[in-house]
Amino acid sequence: MLDHDHRAIGNRLDLFHQQEEAPGMVFWHPRGFALYRVIEDAIRRRMAAAGFKEIRTPQLLDRSLWEASGHWEKFGQAMFTLEDGKRGYALKPMSCPGHVQVFAQRVRSFRELPLRYCEFGACHRNEPSGALQGLVRTRAFVQDDAHIFCAEGDVVGEVARFCGLLKSVYADFGFHDVAVGFSTRPAVRAGGEEAWDRAEAMLEQAARAAGISPRLQPGEGAFYGPKLEFILADGAGREWQCGTIQLDLVLPERLGARYVDESGQFARPVMLHQAVLGSIERFIAMLLEHHRGQLPVWLAPDQVVVASIGAEQAGYAQEVAAALSARGVRAALDVGAERLGRKIVDAREAGIPFFAAVGAREAELRTLALRTRDGGQRTMGIVEAAQAVLAASTP
Ligand SMILES: [Zn+2]
Repeated sequence: MLDHDHRAIGNRLDLFHQQEEAPGMVFWHPRGFALYRVIEDAIRRRMAAAGFKEIRTPQLLDRSLWEASGHWEKFGQAMFTLEDGKRGYALKPMSCPGHVQVFAQRVRSFRELPLRYCEFGACHRNEPSGALQGLVRTRAFVQDDAHIFCAEGDVVGEVARFCGLLKSVYADFGFHDVAVGFSTRPAVRAGGEEAWDRAEAMLEQAARAAGISPRLQPGEGAFYGPKLEFILADGAGREWQCGTIQLDLVLPERLGARYVDESGQFARPVMLHQAVLGSIERFIAMLLEHHRGQLPVWLAPDQVVVASIGAEQAGYAQEVAAALSARGVRAALDVGAERLGRKIVDAREAGIPFFAAVGAREAELRTLALRTRDGGQRTMGIVEAAQAVLAASTP
């Protein structure tokens, strides 16, 4: 395994592991889950600012709902199903049908549109075992799934907003080069040809209005609608779909979503499916490979390691780490017996951006020597050090 492979990096940084008893699934370790949470929190903030309300929908839904949505017939091979002796169920492979249930619980007015829901949806898909690959192709993953219920006239604006949001979020993570694909009707699909003609035309026009010229990916759309795919390359140059926005005229119809329009008539909303990151697991794989494990300060699971120079400073090092943590810095501790040079190398290999050394002089003056990734070093007080790390922690 190449050392820029996210599995090797994840092992070196002690982020996660996978094992035979949970094929295609992930055991997140404390540092890996710290990274996971930082990403989730960042997306949660961005989605709230973009007008989305966060919801949560069930993991397991009755077979009848998947039959109504078309998943049972068109997506069934990828779904985990189970029986309790009386009824059949499927684990959700995506959150869409659940979001339609929330929308359709009340009579909606055109005044409520666009109505935007988001969910960190834990999804399961029964991918063939031969296709499984680290974090990039898993059987269990969390998607930053979101759905917009809107009128046709809102589509151009919503797609443009999404493209702007995605570009800005990806730049925060260090991705400035994102390929875009336009995926059209697949062989196995739901909905009539007329609906597909309209959906593809609308999405293409919206992409153009957003200033995007995607490459055409014939037959790669979702079974319910065409999609724009935002694609990142891994460390070996292979491309993976991450973000997506999809235009759907099929599920609202099949699941009975409707609203009262300006003239008092019932109308079908357009459903836009969107995910900025896509699978968070896959996105973390892209991040680790892109940065070779040296994550930006705001993402690093440990932002600073406090290292004692001699055994006598172990207590003071502990105190410094606690004081930094109390100020919101993710601080680790290294009070082992190794020499300082070894500790610096260990911290670098663990991807920790700041290194705080404390020796006899620092313990006496209640300071620390703070070293950055580029090798710069300065002695300062604890509060100043916390400020320096936090100042470097904005995306
Ligand atoms: Zn969806």
